Amino acid sequence: MHASTKAITCTHPSLHLSHPNIESFVWNNLIRATTRTKPQNSAFPPPLSIYLRMRLHAVLPDLHTFPFLLQSINNPLQGRQLHAQIFLFGLSSDPFVQTSLINMYSSCATLTYARQVFDKITHPDITSWNAIVHANAKAGMIHIARKLFDQMPERNVISWSCMIYGYVSCGEYKAALSLFRRLQMLQGRELQPNEFTMSAVISACARLGALEHGKWVHAYIEKSGIEVNLVLGTSLIDMYAKCGSIERAKCIFNNMGPEKDVMAWSAMIAAFAMHGLSEDCLELFAKMVNDGVRPNAVTFVSVLCACVHGGLVSEGKEYFKRMRNEYGINPTIQHYGCMVDLYSRAGRIEDAWNVVKSMPIEPDVMIWGSLLSGARMHGDIETCEISITKLLELDPTNSSAYVLLSNVYAKLGRWREARHLRDVMEVRGIKKVPGCSLVEIDGVICEFFAGDNSHPETRDIYRMLDEIMKRLQKHGYARNTGEVLHDLDEEGKEFALSLHSEKLAIAYCFLRTSPGTTIRIVKNLRICSDCHVAIKMISREFNREIIVRDCNRFHHFKNGLCSCKDYW
Ligand code: ZN
Ligand code: ZN
Repeated sequence: MHASTKAITCTHPSLHLSHPNIESFVWNNLIRATTRTKPQNSAFPPPLSIYLRMRLHAVLPDLHTFPFLLQSINNPLQGRQLHAQIFLFGLSSDPFVQTSLINMYSSCATLTYARQVFDKITHPDITSWNAIVHANAKAGMIHIARKLFDQMPERNVISWSCMIYGYVSCGEYKAALSLFRRLQMLQGRELQPNEFTMSAVISACARLGALEHGKWVHAYIEKSGIEVNLVLGTSLIDMYAKCGSIERAKCIFNNMGPEKDVMAWSAMIAAFAMHGLSEDCLELFAKMVNDGVRPNAVTFVSVLCACVHGGLVSEGKEYFKRMRNEYGINPTIQHYGCMVDLYSRAGRIEDAWNVVKSMPIEPDVMIWGSLLSGARMHGDIETCEISITKLLELDPTNSSAYVLLSNVYAKLGRWREARHLRDVMEVRGIKKVPGCSLVEIDGVICEFFAGDNSHPETRDIYRMLDEIMKRLQKHGYARNTGEVLHDLDEEGKEFALSLHSEKLAIAYCFLRTSPGTTIRIVKNLRICSDCHVAIKMISREFNREIIVRDCNRFHHFKNGLCSCKDYW
């Protein structure tokens, strides 16, 4: 390795005066041909090995040598050495080489160097602008990316796609959608969004659970003649499922034709699973296998999830076995997580422990969390305490672990422990993640936090909520105060519960939508049992279908019942 590294650093162009044309053409083609080859037990990617041999043969590199070579580099040291070579051979002012350098530094996660290269370019062309915007977005410096994007003298569809995609990967979904809307206004002047742009926009809709936006984006794709290929179709299935419309997801899936790959099948299987339609999910799985499509690890995560949501313990056990024996898939931490969840929800804490003990991998936060919430549901205080200790070892700032354990104490009336835990949280500066619910009204996405009074129509919202709750009480609703963190007095508990964000969101929808309209809510945390009871009653008393996506799954409330059958 050392000898070859020397070859990079010690050669000087003046030592080799061979004619570059024909010879370098052959070597460049060799480099290009190996860019997609995987390295074999060597410290160097194949194109770099070829470059080193090219230099040993005293062939001079030219402008076409480096762009492909740089693509294969993901080690910052090798990248810097090649950069030095480019400099030595006087090729550093070529725009194509410069852009390749920015991309290379970006994929080596050395943003500072990427920026240095960019800043040295006197008149950056659109490709180098795109590269630096992409590099910043990828590194999570989304505000800098946006600043650069706004400074660009001209932008093409790649610039727009990079920026939209950057917002999505940083979790700024609303910003992604609003940027797409701006792109649309400019459209026509050679700016036509492509599949890449659209799949970023679709995933923003999916994360937000914004069905109206999603439908509009879908209609837009059809109108502008963008081909719905497998990738786009799969993201549409995922989007409709996450926006709560299983019917539309099914429709896309059925229209996809016979060439569906494992990703498309898995997306539909996952859709059924997250909606708690366990039977449909398992049926589709059987059909997929029947059609000769081989399930992968991702497919099995959804299948096991379906078993968890449906409480199908023996089926889950069977699928877990089949995955290993029939398909040779080694279970990942997610599969083990499903099994622990499956057993502990069903109250089979001992079986859940056996899974944890049998794991060849260290259990993670998700696994201890499942064990904790199962044990909590079934009042196994010892398991609760063990799993919380493990949870806090792994993640000392895990607020939901504290909340869950203090709920256990509260349920058992052990207020002193509950209070102690609250003090610990305060001392350690741990804040409870605020509950947040999202609704989409007339194409506008509104966010509500627990106890929120920032909305311009706050007074009306609270008055409406009051009316709703009064009517529920008339029909026998009593608040379930077991879920509140603190040992507040009864009135205080009732107060905190009535202000949960999903209740505020529902009140707002009552104000703004006509009777009978389905209400769709996306919530960041797990729905509490008090809200669950209240929403079931609302769906019956006011004859409204209410669909809530919490952090685990979907709840379809209708006629006083929920699709989860109170098992969540
Ligand atoms: Zn609640
Ligand atoms: Zn439910």
